[in-house]
Amino acid sequence: MKMKLIILLVAILPSTLLAKIGHAPANFKSPEGYAIFVDFKKADYDLTYDPGSKTVTAKSTITFENTEEGMPVIDMVENPIKFFVDGTEVSTKVINSIDQDTWFRIILKSIKPGVHTFVVTSVIDQGVNFITTGVSSSFWFNDLGDRNFLEAYLPANFEYDQVKMTFNIDFQTMDKQKFYTNGNVTDLGSNRFTVEFPETYTSSSLYYHTTPIGRYPENKFTYTTLDGRDIPGVVYAKDSYTNLEDAKKKIISSIQVLESKYGPWLHQKIIVFIAGNGGMEYCGATMTDLSSLNHELTHSYFARGGFMPANGNAGWIDEAVTTWSDSGSGTRPDLKGIAANMAGNSQYRRYTEYRAYTQGASFMSYLNYKFQSNGGLTAFLNDMIKNDAFKPMTTEEFAAKMSTYYSEDLTSLFKDHVYTNKTNPGQSNDSKPGHMKMSIPEMNQYL
Ligand SMILES: [Zn+2]
Repeated sequence: MKMKLIILLVAILPSTLLAKIGHAPANFKSPEGYAIFVDFKKADYDLTYDPGSKTVTAKSTITFENTEEGMPVIDMVENPIKFFVDGTEVSTKVINSIDQDTWFRIILKSIKPGVHTFVVTSVIDQGVNFITTGVSSSFWFNDLGDRNFLEAYLPANFEYDQVKMTFNIDFQTMDKQKFYTNGNVTDLGSNRFTVEFPETYTSSSLYYHTTPIGRYPENKFTYTTLDGRDIPGVVYAKDSYTNLEDAKKKIISSIQVLESKYGPWLHQKIIVFIAGNGGMEYCGATMTDLSSLNHELTHSYFARGGFMPANGNAGWIDEAVTTWSDSGSGTRPDLKGIAANMAGNSQYRRYTEYRAYTQGASFMSYLNYKFQSNGGLTAFLNDMIKNDAFKPMTTEEFAAKMSTYYSEDLTSLFKDHVYTNKTNPGQSNDSKPGHMKMSIPEMNQYL
């Protein structure tokens, strides 16, 4: 990792540019042609739920910009039915990254630099359950698995890219649908809706679950944030025996403590689905069991809001900081045994290394100890949230910002402890996190 160079770049480039294509992995020559990473400008997804055929069809219209000529990387796990770029039908192929770390889809046509639009039709198979009263459909993610963000359902970009996403939804004859989502819902009548997500969102940000009205017990509430905004909150559960009043109290007290530590709640809503084992975080939302609730809500500051990872090599920061904070914001005076490669994996990596929960959290405890006379780690985290909320960040930028904040070059400290042990996969020697995340097929049982 070119830490020093990146520190220099951070100083020179405006952060808006860095938040976009500057965080993309390197373009590369594949056997098919020159694969390029692009900048999504706008993404409109038309989703049609057909209760007759029990299918969901997506027509996705995405405007993107490329600065180099080549074959754009547009990942989607589902095979497209039709794929057009600027009105011309093209074919696509799922290929390996040059280092064979992951797979993704490219358009098999070299595209000249500029602004272009692709339109793709596809079927959504995962996360859909048609029942007699309507449809339960969600786009739930898993950041410990590859290709498990929005690309599992719809054409999407890597996590570096923030894009304004809009769902245009047609339920056809199903007239009793409702939404649990961190987007803004507009009822257009005739069982049609739009859901608009903030332009700061990436492929890992959005929470979307539509269900027939009354399918889940729920408890709605209004929460007044530390900065005086009244925002809607809802907790709903898969099981009727979940005590939602109790869960609501836990959510509110958890967020109040988080606000006292890290500042006003960063989101426009609070959405909690109590279901399953472990949890997964979204912007202002989570699907979680009760024991992981505080951990998952903490992620609305670290992972989905205050700090946002620009790639899988920064995902460890989400879990390291959150686990450290959730387990009491402790200190440790030594770095004994902390040497895990959490940040230096393939530049195409999209998922988080497990050792973030153990060695990563211990590394944060050490930083909290080391800088205790400067307000500890929380002082830096608060500064980062104040200045860089909703800006996807790499580990190199995180380390550089911390170096600046504490007036000490931390490059070699990070290099020695979060980029090392590349050959040792380590995962078998480290205990798996207590709040394990479910895979997408596992989550489908809660629809
Ligand atoms: Zn977590």
